[in-house]
Amino acid sequence: MSKRDYYEILGVDRNAQADEIKKAYRKIAIKYHPDKNPDDKESEEKFKEAAEAYEILSNTEKRQKYDRFGHQGVGGGSHAGGSMNMDDIFSQFGDIFGGGSPFDSFFGGGSRGGRRTRKGTNLRIKIKLTLEELANGVEKKIKVNRLIVDSNTTFKNCQTCNGTGQVRKVMNTMLGQMMSTSTCPACGGAGQMVDQRAAGTDSSGMKRQEEVISIKIPSGVTEGMQLSMSGKGNEVPGGIPGDLLIVIEEIEDELLKRDGNNVIYDLYISFPQAALGDNVEVPTIDGKVKIKIDPGTQGGKMLRLRGKGIKDIDGYGKGDQLIHVNVWTPKNLSKEEKIMLESLMGAKNFEPNPSRQDKTFFERMKEFFE
Ligand SMILES: [Zn+2]
Repeated sequence: MSKRDYYEILGVDRNAQADEIKKAYRKIAIKYHPDKNPDDKESEEKFKEAAEAYEILSNTEKRQKYDRFGHQGVGGGSHAGGSMNMDDIFSQFGDIFGGGSPFDSFFGGGSRGGRRTRKGTNLRIKIKLTLEELANGVEKKIKVNRLIVDSNTTFKNCQTCNGTGQVRKVMNTMLGQMMSTSTCPACGGAGQMVDQRAAGTDSSGMKRQEEVISIKIPSGVTEGMQLSMSGKGNEVPGGIPGDLLIVIEEIEDELLKRDGNNVIYDLYISFPQAALGDNVEVPTIDGKVKIKIDPGTQGGKMLRLRGKGIKDIDGYGKGDQLIHVNVWTPKNLSKEEKIMLESLMGAKNFEPNPSRQDKTFFERMKEFFE
């Protein structure tokens, strides 16, 4: 088959102006566009042929060579159909049709002859975790109610769009009549409709199914954080399933409070323990730990248990446990207790005498939380 003349392909004469060539090509590209002529080999050949002709004639240098030497001058082979592939052709369109023009919708926003992949809706669940689970990470098995396509549901091609998922409308534009593409209203873009469905399914042939899903929660997650498991959401006929979104909720611990990756514990000791010193047990996220209270410990002191906090979600280190020491002042003293304490009332040693080392509450907070 010998190659057709480029001017003949575009239907313009040999001294046509650039904009004339562009306009002619635009018309042919629209007429033979593969979106509009699915599975039509002849249209595809014409589409490619026109693209090649435009490629040459829209370029001043190539056009001059073609005018002087014919197809040989521009490296054209002898076979018809052209040397450009579809991607080259489509990338040319940005130049021909420009951005934001009515042609964008004509070409279906890059759908290129195929329908857009539909995605099922996302499922969202909340999961409550204890401080220990948040701190160390945990694997949880949870029940979710997914919408799935019932295995007995059969589908047929949508008659409105012939299975393409898109419908075309004629639009009048300044360049004449154009076709515009939009999602098929009958099938919602799926290209398929339910043919037969079992009882207990909805109009899309779907049903709810309870599934147990195992979720690995990494350590260091925080309240309100959202994890996502792709493909574990609701299914959709002819598409891919949505995602399962897992929203983290913290169950407040009775004893330990979280502050970022640190854990704070309010320790209460008695006045004799503070004055004489003692060994006491404190809870941590990894169980109980014994700590030493030095003799003469002031109320408000902060102790730090390094590495006893929460593992960082990014894997960089671990927080600490901070122990806030409170000295408990007894109420409702017995007669004997009153007598003992009254004897200490005037003792010089019991008069408050803060030194430079006894930092104020604000200094300590600054030191620990910065
Ligand atoms: Zn349809």
